[in-house]
Amino acid sequence: MANSKFEYVKQFEQPDNLLPNTWIVVRIDGRGFTKFANKYAFEKPNDKRALELMNAAARAVMGEVQDITVAYGVSDEYSFVFHKTCSLFERRASKLVSTIVSTFTAYYVHYWSTYFTDTPLSAPLPSFDGRAVCYPTVQNLRDYMSWRQVDCHINNLYNTTHWALIQLGGMDGTEAEMTLKGTYAADKNEILFSKFSINYNNEPEMYKKGSVVFRDYELVEPGTHNTSIDADHLAEPVQQSKTQTENDRKRRAKARIVVEHLDIIKDDFWNRRPWLLSNKPGRVPKEP
Ligand code: ATP
Ligand code: ATP
Ligand code: MG
Ligand code: MG
Repeated sequence: MANSKFEYVKQFEQPDNLLPNTWIVVRIDGRGFTKFANKYAFEKPNDKRALELMNAAARAVMGEVQDITVAYGVSDEYSFVFHKTCSLFERRASKLVSTIVSTFTAYYVHYWSTYFTDTPLSAPLPSFDGRAVCYPTVQNLRDYMSWRQVDCHINNLYNTTHWALIQLGGMDGTEAEMTLKGTYAADKNEILFSKFSINYNNEPEMYKKGSVVFRDYELVEPGTHNTSIDADHLAEPVQQSKTQTENDRKRRAKARIVVEHLDIIKDDFWNRRPWLLSNKPGRVPKEP
């Protein structure tokens, strides 16, 4: 390899490794999507096409990056969770984040015309920021996921009521805001029901719960596994043969990546899908 007097510049590159043996969450968020949503006349409070486009891009990212075990999306954001033992993939923050952001953005643009069939994209094009955070325990990771889903619920209940007051109640933005100031969840449910005959419970699951993306294997009876304790006890990647690693890779590649709108706060979601925390691919369901 040729050395040159310029080579010293390489020393300026500083390590930015993420702590080993922790769950890495890369969260991306649309840049300036308030404006972007206005430009493309997103339906308020929830544009179904825009959410499905986010989900399609997230699914594509998971298809390309096997170390992502689960992802959760709401509004213009998506959180991608890397299993704590993933070491095959780079654990450098900048590489990890830039890979996810660029792959996601590329697919977002690629799939745009599938969801916005009669509105071509024009500059300024959509872009996303991203960050990586390490969570040391399963509980920390679960709490992170719960935080995002609770945020989804709070924002969606607020937005649904806010836009009902405007679209159905004839208020302007300021009047709607004043009406909702200091109200609790029960008050918002009551406004929706008594003024507009809207039962919040009947709103689409995607709006109320957000979207969770994962590889689909056969569900497990709850109580047969304690994957969260096992996962916390893991200290380093499981030593296994090349053949076994290759088998796992193939099984992951074969699994269908699904988008669902489930409660990820309760234990049930995690207990019935032990592969999310164990990183051991489950049984691929037979083709129906
Ligand atoms: P920043 O660059 O700081 O993220 P932002 O304008 O993107 O600024 P956010 O807090 O990320 O701010 O908010 C996202 C915005 O995009 C909100 O205003 C939200 O209403 C809008 N938005 C995102 N997805 C949808 C959707 N599917 N339907 C309607 N509006 C949406
Ligand atoms: P930045 O400019 O650094 O990107 P941000 O405004 O995008 O900051 P984030 O740190 O990305 O904020 O927060 C992501 C989401 O978390 C926001 O959409 C917001 O709904 C929610 N959030 C942030 N802080 C709080 C808080 N104190 N309470 C409730 N929700 C919060
Ligand atoms: Mg944003
Ligand atoms: Mg956002």
